[in-house]
Amino acid sequence: MPARPLHLLRQIGRLADEQSVSLYLVGGVVRDLLLKRQNWDLDLTVEGDGIAFARLVADRYGAGLAVFERFATARLAFPDGLKMDIATTRQESYAQPALLPMVQPASIEEDLSRRDFTINALAVQLNPRQFGRLHDPCEGQRDLQARTIRVLHAGSFQDDPTRIFRAIRFEQRFGFRLERTTVRLLAQAASRNLIQRLSGPRLQNEILLLFAEREPVRAIARLEQLKLLRFLHRRLCYRKNVKQVVVAVPKALAWWARRFPDSALDRPIVYLMALSSESSPAVVAGMIRRLALSRAQAKNMGFVGRRVDRALKRLADKKTARPSQVYRLLADFPDEALALLLAKQMSAQHAARLNLLKRQLAAYVKNKAVKTVLTGRDLQAMGLQPGLQYKTILGNLLDARIDGMITTEADERALVKKQLSALRNLLI
Ligand code: ATP
Ligand code: MG
Repeated sequence: MPARPLHLLRQIGRLADEQSVSLYLVGGVVRDLLLKRQNWDLDLTVEGDGIAFARLVADRYGAGLAVFERFATARLAFPDGLKMDIATTRQESYAQPALLPMVQPASIEEDLSRRDFTINALAVQLNPRQFGRLHDPCEGQRDLQARTIRVLHAGSFQDDPTRIFRAIRFEQRFGFRLERTTVRLLAQAASRNLIQRLSGPRLQNEILLLFAEREPVRAIARLEQLKLLRFLHRRLCYRKNVKQVVVAVPKALAWWARRFPDSALDRPIVYLMALSSESSPAVVAGMIRRLALSRAQAKNMGFVGRRVDRALKRLADKKTARPSQVYRLLADFPDEALALLLAKQMSAQHAARLNLLKRQLAAYVKNKAVKTVLTGRDLQAMGLQPGLQYKTILGNLLDARIDGMITTEADERALVKKQLSALRNLLI
């Protein structure tokens, strides 16, 4: 572990002794330490009152503190940017499958045995005399070595179906395999349709976390293989043409990141868009509802299908030759929809059209910054009554600038006058 967090953990361990509580580093961060993977999510847990201990730490180090009473958890933000969660060791009981559990204080061993997988049921003690001692009641270390994802008990997926998606997330991230019984239990839980009982926001969270991983394409294939895509929509299918678009998404995102390093995309939503790219509007609308997508996400999803297909067709048309036409065509496309356009064209295996589209996109993004010098106020000063023509006239100025027909303010004024006299002639 890097020196800075290590030093801090030792100090906080001493503070735990002063308070006569046992303190542990716990969960994914321990797993990642053993895997030698960087992880900056310092999750700590206290046998005792976690929130009280967190307040003490926050006071001592001048850290920001947010308390979540309901989960007996506090989040600390240290002045140097380090973040830390401190919780109370707890047991959970699931009154009903798929709903959030009731929680009670418990020992570290009990706390570990309510977790999702053996590889995440690990803790390292931080009190000075036991500093570095590993607690591994579920043989997580053995499974780490065997590269295996294993649930802790047969009812695990039933208690909390989000674990179905977490299992795939870890399996794909580490290149591990689901252990045999675990696969069987997962399939069983899926066949009992427990996932339907998950709330929209919880399902959305799991799906988007999965699509935020480094290689979502493999995760999507795994979802398909385990017949889990139907939980996004029962008529969602992963046919060959959909798969080709999904497979092209990483390439499209890479192109975007190279070309426009300053404009970050909502990558997970691009995968979701690609996944539904051949679905009917009704299916897409159903997915938006089921996943309780935000307004911005839903707007992106609204471009899937006809709007993207029509834009691709028109962009490939020789009649769309002028940069201003491309600009008008794409003006209301969110960047994520542009990325989907690109992925779709990449999947179509048509080199000339792909090159054309890349040029069009690059020009379009550049043209988004183009502005006219003249404004509505200038038009008024030139004697034009405010009205609908303003939009048309200024729009024509912008088009002319984008197409390189005019470059200066004088050019703009001349073009306004020309338009005005044309208008007058029309009226006479
Ligand atoms: P990541 O690297 O993606 O953050 P993580 O293992 O740290 O993975 P978190 O979601 O940050 O996962 O949760 C931290 C720990 O809390 C997990 O390692 C696991 O022990 C426990 N945990 C999280 N979600 C669940 C769950 N749904 N059921 C049981 N235990 C869970
Ligand atoms: Mg984590």
